[in-house]
Amino acid sequence: MAKKLKQIAIYGKGGIGKSTTTSNLSAALSEMGLKVMQFGCDPKSDSTNTLRDGKYIPTVLDTLREKTVIKAHDVIFEGFNGIYCVEAGGPAPGVGCAGRGIITAVELFKQQKVFEELDLDVVIYDVLGDVVCGGFAVPIREGIAEHVFTVSSSDFMSIYASNNLFKGISKYSNSGGALLGGVIANSMGTPYSKEIIDDFVAKTHTNVVEYIPRSVTVTQSELQGKTTIEAAPNSAQAGVYRSLADKIARHTESKAPTPMEVTELREWAAKWGDYLLELEQNKITSHGAAI
Ligand code: ADP
Ligand code: MG
Repeated sequence: MAKKLKQIAIYGKGGIGKSTTTSNLSAALSEMGLKVMQFGCDPKSDSTNTLRDGKYIPTVLDTLREKTVIKAHDVIFEGFNGIYCVEAGGPAPGVGCAGRGIITAVELFKQQKVFEELDLDVVIYDVLGDVVCGGFAVPIREGIAEHVFTVSSSDFMSIYASNNLFKGISKYSNSGGALLGGVIANSMGTPYSKEIIDDFVAKTHTNVVEYIPRSVTVTQSELQGKTTIEAAPNSAQAGVYRSLADKIARHTESKAPTPMEVTELREWAAKWGDYLLELEQNKITSHGAAI
C-alpha cells in the first residue's frame, strides 16, 4: 500500500518562532525515520537556515529569474539528516505579490510530481503571518496542506494574527480547505502566558498542541546555525520538540476553529489587561505592607 503523504502548514506572526519551531519539528520527525521536506514560504527566505549550518539557499523565485525553465531539483537542497529544504522566496522588493513564490513553487512541484518521486512522508510549509494576500492562503485554500498549526505566544499581536488565521481557515473550511490542527504555544514562561493562551484556545474552540518554553538553548543553537535537535540533542528543550513531533506525526483529526470578532477579541484582551493590572497592584500593596 502506498503511504499517505502528510502535508501540514505552520502559520503565525512574523518573528514569533515559526521557522525555529518548524526546523526543530522537521529535525525531530527525520530522527523518527520519516522523510521530510521543509518548504519555506516567507519572503524572508530563512526558514531552512538552521537545517543547513546557517547557510541560505537560492529561492524558487530567484532561480526562475535566472532561467525561465527550471527543474524542481534545482531548488531542492539537502539539510540535516536528509531533510529536503526549499525556499519559495519573494518578489523583488516593492514589486508584486509576496505570495507569488508559494504559488509558483507549488505549481512546479505538482507538475513534476516531486513529492511522489521523493517518496516523502511529511511536507511542512512554514508560512508568514496573517492571511492577507492570496499567495499566503494557498496552502489553506487549495487544501494543499491538510492540517494547519499556528505558532503563538501570549502577546496580543500574536494572538490577533492567530485569530485572523482562524478566520481564513473558517472561510475555506466548507470548500475543501485545510483545517486547524491546533496552536503551538511558544515562548512560554512569562507570568500568565499559559493561562492567556489556554483562555484564547477555549474561546475559539481550539487546542494547544504543545507548550514550548522560551529557552536560551534555542538562542545558543541558532547562533551556531543549527536547530536545538542538532546542537543540543540531550537538552530538555530538544525533548519538548520531540514531543511536539510525536504528536504531529500521530495527528489525524483537524477542525474548523471559531474565531472571535474584532470587538470581542478587544474586550477579551482588555479583561486580561485589567486582571493583570489588578494582580500587579495587589502584589505592590502586599509587598508595601510588609516593609
Ligand atoms: P519567524 O519564523 O516566526 O519569523 P523565528 O523562528 O525566526 O521567527 O524566530 C525569531 C527569533 O526568536 C529567533 O531569533 C529565534 O531564535 C527566537 N526564538 C523562537 N522561539 C524561541 C524559544 N522558544 N526560545 C528562545 N528563542 C526563541
Ligand atoms: Mg521564519
